[in-house]
Amino acid sequence: MYDQPPTLTATEEARRQIEICNACRYCEGYCAVFPSAFGQRAFSDGDITQLANLCHNCRGCYYACQYTDPHEFALNLPRALAEVRVESWERFAWPSGFARVFQSSGAALSLMLVLGIAATFWALTVLAPASGEGFYAYLSHSAMVAIFAPAFLFPLGAIVFGLRRYWTEVGGERVRWPHMKAALLDAARLKNLSGGAAKGCNFEKGDRYSQRRRQAHQAVFWGFLLCFASTSSGTVLHYVFGMPAPYSLLSVPKLLGIPGGILLVAGSTLLIKLKLQADQRLGATSVWGGEMAFVALLGLTGLTGLALYAATGTALVAPLLSLHLGAVLAFFLTTPYSKMVHGFYRVASLVRDAQRKERSKGSCQQDSG
Ligand code: SF4
Ligand code: SF4
Repeated sequence: MYDQPPTLTATEEARRQIEICNACRYCEGYCAVFPSAFGQRAFSDGDITQLANLCHNCRGCYYACQYTDPHEFALNLPRALAEVRVESWERFAWPSGFARVFQSSGAALSLMLVLGIAATFWALTVLAPASGEGFYAYLSHSAMVAIFAPAFLFPLGAIVFGLRRYWTEVGGERVRWPHMKAALLDAARLKNLSGGAAKGCNFEKGDRYSQRRRQAHQAVFWGFLLCFASTSSGTVLHYVFGMPAPYSLLSVPKLLGIPGGILLVAGSTLLIKLKLQADQRLGATSVWGGEMAFVALLGLTGLTGLALYAATGTALVAPLLSLHLGAVLAFFLTTPYSKMVHGFYRVASLVRDAQRKERSKGSCQQDSG
């Protein structure tokens, strides 16, 4: 009878399971986790953190595994790695403790933030300058910049700080362009979400493959980038060309923003649906609510942006603008502590994996030479 220690930390439990996988090796072609693990004999805490962040919870290995419950090994690798992942993001987050609060009370916190910030913006619109056109008749451009610049820069600084902690723990080496290029290409194509056999995930369909999770992530990823490009193009038009908002339907900000908003809403809706269909026991159950809150916040950002476009010139602009700015600001402020941060750690883990592959290729060449 396998003697499982009664209380293991998340890292110890993941190590126990990975060591069993390392003896079994059945899932070698499933994802980047297994080739990375199978090159090692022992796993430090940093190795486990790196493997956990390479895993994208497709669940293929769980449904293929002959050692899941009721087997005495009780393997549930997707969950074990998800627990380590979440624990690592909480540990690396700065200021410490914020991530734990968001993950445990994400829905309530998001709602409070969106409504609180929206109410503040609403109050500001009442005190708005009489001058200004379009959105700036409700909230001056300088007020928007004064609020959004720090709200964007602070989370960015917190994420960089967290990534430095991650890089130290996983033993990352000096990053060179080939590592970065390999990681960014994999991330942009969401290559790993296509699964080992390029048939997709087993996330919501048990032992059946599906591409829907990859499609939902693609929609959210490109939707977010298009919305970001839309806002950036508006800033360039404003400052460089002296063309303030509002913009016509055929302007660059709207040509980027409308499809971006539609993709963001469609992707978020599909992600929520898939999450509701999936088996919660194969993920980190303690953060399920926080993850749902994050996806809902993402969808709300796109939805209120589209509604704002549609309401241009009507009396609904002021309340919708307040709500949209509330959602955007809440989204930015919670980024280092919500599921959004996983994108940054995922890219970092891919960079580290590219370094590992380069190193093992180099040692193979040395052996054969
Ligand atoms: S998940 Fe199960 S089947 Fe896959 S490598 Fe690990 S022990 Fe083997
Ligand atoms: S859940 Fe998917 S990505 Fe994670 S280890 Fe298993 S096969 Fe790999």
